Amino acid sequence: MTRIVYVNGDYMPEGDAKISIFDRGFLMADGVYEVTTVIDGKLIDFEGHFTRLERSLGELDIANPMDRDAWLEVHRQLVGQNAVDQGMIYLQVTRGAPGDRDFVFPDPDTTAPTVVLFTQSNPALVDSPKAKKGIKVVTIDDLRWGRRDIKTVQLLYPSMGKMMAIKQGADDAWMVQDGAITEGTSNNAYIIKDGKIVTRALSNDILHGITRAAVLRFAREAQMQVEERNFTVEEAKSADEAFVTSASTFVMPVVSIDGTELGTGTPGPLATRLREIYIEESRKAAI
Ligand code: PMP
Repeated sequence: MTRIVYVNGDYMPEGDAKISIFDRGFLMADGVYEVTTVIDGKLIDFEGHFTRLERSLGELDIANPMDRDAWLEVHRQLVGQNAVDQGMIYLQVTRGAPGDRDFVFPDPDTTAPTVVLFTQSNPALVDSPKAKKGIKVVTIDDLRWGRRDIKTVQLLYPSMGKMMAIKQGADDAWMVQDGAITEGTSNNAYIIKDGKIVTRALSNDILHGITRAAVLRFAREAQMQVEERNFTVEEAKSADEAFVTSASTFVMPVVSIDGTELGTGTPGPLATRLREIYIEESRKAAI
């Protein structure tokens, strides 16, 4: 089955999709993205992703090319046309292709944003073998820019970080700034000590995860204690449990940090429970 993608208003087979070489997304990483998860052919937390998209675009002074209902329609069309049961929808909006390379932003009246969406199926999303074993992380310096709250397509350092982790036999990297963990390369980071969930507070230092917001809400509803504050690498290594959250991994237990095993070296009970609650509640609220 050929994948159908969306480019600037049209649906087409992926092989027919074309973007200008002058697109500022390509030349300058001048664009933003969102990843929305699909379970049972339905969208998880569409409103959260749409709201963050609007914010990211606003921070970069790019006009939102579509309203909420139009975005929802494209998402649903792609899920339907590609028969996605479990997987994700990737969307990207760039400042467009002015026809030359220039550091100055093009006039938005003559250069429209570029809009691309595509789907990726992943039948093992809910029943993930990785979630049963947990993942290993290593710590690396956080060398990203200062506006990590904007979901831009500048993903080179996170991608390098992931490779540094894989080279060390781990699965992912947690980034460190002034001794404290900021977040994972593509997820938010949490530790649990004496039943208390600790995660860095929201600021420009981290992406405001849509999954983070949902998981913290579910945790509080389940009477779990939550503390939003910085935590150090040392604190993380002596935690009882740890986990990461993202739209595509939900709640993923972390079982070792820089080679130090946490607890029994297997997914902890609270992280496991939070994963179950998150999947159950997200499924119920999916649209
Ligand atoms: N932090 C970073 C750096 C990310 O790239 C992501 C996922 N894109 C997240 C956190 C998690 O965000 P969300 O829960 O919205 O997927």
